[in-house]
Amino acid sequence: MAQEEDHKRTIVYGDAALNYIRKNTLPAYPRFYELWYTYAAGFNHSLNRAVNEVAGSGKPISTEQLQQIYNSFLSPTKLGDRIDEVGEKISDEIHSMVDLLTRNADSVAEYGASLAGAQSELEQLKDPKQLKALISHMVSATKKSADANQALETQLVDSRRQIEELQESLEAIRHESLTDELTTLSNRRHFDQTIERMVREAGHSREPMALLLTDIDHFKKFNDTYGHQTGDQVLRLVALAVKQNVKGHDVACRYGGEEFAVLLPHTSLRQAVTVAEHIRRAVLTKELVKRSTGENLGRITISIGVSSFVAQDTVQSMIARADAALYAAKAAGRNLVRCESDPDVETDIRVA
Ligand code: GH3
Ligand code: MG
Ligand code: MG
Repeated sequence: MAQEEDHKRTIVYGDAALNYIRKNTLPAYPRFYELWYTYAAGFNHSLNRAVNEVAGSGKPISTEQLQQIYNSFLSPTKLGDRIDEVGEKISDEIHSMVDLLTRNADSVAEYGASLAGAQSELEQLKDPKQLKALISHMVSATKKSADANQALETQLVDSRRQIEELQESLEAIRHESLTDELTTLSNRRHFDQTIERMVREAGHSREPMALLLTDIDHFKKFNDTYGHQTGDQVLRLVALAVKQNVKGHDVACRYGGEEFAVLLPHTSLRQAVTVAEHIRRAVLTKELVKRSTGENLGRITISIGVSSFVAQDTVQSMIARADAALYAAKAAGRNLVRCESDPDVETDIRVA
């Protein structure tokens, strides 16, 4: 049944994609098909905004414009390219700084030579007029060197500013690469890195550490009833409820489509269950109203599974126990929190 619905939805998006290609008399390259398919599905908000902007101009969309949108929002190398670009700029900047310093070293050497020359002239000096000429020569050499230093300082300050700006761009790219676009929570990649680190740290410190896995109840039905766009709004709302109920070093992530995970360092199983209860209730108490029509969509619930670190745990074993607890919460009727020590949770490893 579920497979049949997925099949139907895919066909609808696929048809819509082909219609867009026909309507805009564009070449049916696979990448354009991918772009229009994504547009029809409405998952990628930035992409849809970019397409709407171009389409809004009233002129037909050109292949160049589409290629640009594809490169910006779909190309898998998007982030890598931007990192390379910033890296290249930093390398150029370093080259020009090294150049500057070398040139300045030349001018310092020149100044030193003229001082040495002046000294030997001074030793053989007979006429006071010569002394005057020598002093004026030294003054001008000193001024030249001071000017060169001043110019160097200005250029170095400028270079430093540019390098700082590039560093900020790199930081922004790094942040973006770890953030889920729809919900602004950490993405799966960030989750994978963080749980790896936290499990390692908990293994050393023997401090408690817990994991929550949440899954929206009957979300497929919600999507089928109200559409994916509205479903996405609900994902944002659930993400907000998760975010508002965690703090400090806790890391809230979008684990999968409609699944969220929270990593809670220095937190016992009991404390983690309390956090999970807060999140569950926060979602439950939100009444969903469709902004565009004011239509009341009722309420949505989530189920949560909780596990906590035990000696010898690996990332996989911790996730498996949270997943088993989540499964038990679903089996017990949904809108529930279950932790690994609850009697109806079947896990291989028990908390000591
Ligand atoms: P259960 O209570 O057993 O969890 O039922 P369920 O229908 O929620 O089942 P499941 O967790 O397997 O549902 C996944 C569904 O979530 C499939 C799809 O309709 C929806 N979904 C997954 N990712 C997204 C997304 O990014 N946006 C939207 N709108 N829906 C998504
Ligand atoms: Mg799910
Ligand atoms: Mg679900």
